[in-house]
Amino acid sequence: MSQNDFNLFVRACCAGLMIQTPVSIRFESKPRRELKKVAGLCEHRYRKGVLSGFVIHVNMGVCLDSGYLTTDVIAHELVHAHMIEFGKFDEEYHHDTHFQKLCAVLTKFLLDAGFEVKQLYSPETDTD
Ligand SMILES: [Zn+2]
Repeated sequence: MSQNDFNLFVRACCAGLMIQTPVSIRFESKPRRELKKVAGLCEHRYRKGVLSGFVIHVNMGVCLDSGYLTTDVIAHELVHAHMIEFGKFDEEYHHDTHFQKLCAVLTKFLLDAGFEVKQLYSPETDTD
């Protein structure tokens, strides 16, 4: 995927999910400890108590080893970002039925727009 297509993909995800907060994506080849075992992580930043940005970390090692599409990982993390922005994020249960429904809707939206995505939510691995 070219840089331009990639930017379009992130913008399409944010549009589909109605995310207004700025998002930046970081591809990590040497991830820090809390990212070691996961494919992606959505970090949210606050300025003066107000949500000011999302940083989506993509663990390239895990993606390569597991054969995950980076587009799937980014879209998955942006669904978390949506839930944080809309106050629907459940600290105890990250991948609840609302999350799963959003993944299905976003998958259809992205496929219709011509992007390659396969599986944003996996019941086997997204258990928490
Ligand atoms: Zn997740």
